[in-house]
Amino acid sequence: MLSYRHAFHAGNFADVLKHSLLLHTLNYMTQKEKPLRIIDTHAGAGAYTFSSNQPIKNREYENGVGKLWKRDDLPATLQDYINFVKAFNDGDRLQHYPGSPLFMQAALRPKDNLFLHELHSTDWRLLNDVIGDDRQVKIIDDDGLAGMQGLLPPPDRRGLVFIDPSYELKNDYHEVVKQVISAHKRFATGTYVIWYPVVLRQRIDDMQKALIKSGIKNIQLFELGIAPDSPEYGMNSSGLFVINPPWTLWKAMEETLPYLAEVLGENGEGFYRLEQLVAE
Ligand code: SAM
Repeated sequence: MLSYRHAFHAGNFADVLKHSLLLHTLNYMTQKEKPLRIIDTHAGAGAYTFSSNQPIKNREYENGVGKLWKRDDLPATLQDYINFVKAFNDGDRLQHYPGSPLFMQAALRPKDNLFLHELHSTDWRLLNDVIGDDRQVKIIDDDGLAGMQGLLPPPDRRGLVFIDPSYELKNDYHEVVKQVISAHKRFATGTYVIWYPVVLRQRIDDMQKALIKSGIKNIQLFELGIAPDSPEYGMNSSGLFVINPPWTLWKAMEETLPYLAEVLGENGEGFYRLEQLVAE
């Protein structure tokens, strides 16, 4: 039984990093001529609406996209991200927020394809409504990690895999790494973007060690924290492992992460990590 609903977290500090990095990667990968296969293993509902009546605890976006909305000093990657979110809203008020499937659908060229997986039946229905009738997009109500294996390698050998689980089960951390290693054996040149929440730091350290030990080359890590780790109070930081990143991503994150740590960090305690875990 799945209890996680992304609607409670949409647009928070984790989504800001996740979606700005995703958008940068999509923009880069769609510049090359060859067709691209995009796979979202955990797609969510596709779009979210904020309301001023939302209970305080559900207003995570206020310390995320809400804080960037009116800034005029954004680094380029964040400006692109805010422009995308603005195009999804009418006028100046922040009311709607696009999920990863919409960033991906917007990037598709006629030769590209998108595969979205979502297991929660309600979110699956919402996702279908949001995506609409689009022959380039396939929406699958099945396990995304198993689904990814069946879709690799892509026919044209160009692919972006976005792995964004809710990590409801302790074993999910281990399972994600295991499945990524297996996917990489099928398709070593693909770009894999793997999101993680830091609730217990040890779990992320273990993921990191397992990825390094796997022999996979060219892995970078990007993490944003808004306060020091605190297992009692939940997620204060989150990050992404990126395998075969666009060569432009490092510089984009060098500008983005310090800015976000300062603007979104609580009481001057924001921090970031920018690491090449395994060389090319
Ligand atoms: N990627 C989305 C975005 O950026 O807008 C958010 C995804 S949310 C963090 C994780 C989603 O994965 C939830 O909607 C949950 O229902 C779904 N989910 C959980 N387990 C799954 C599985 N095994 N396969 C596919 N979807 C799953």
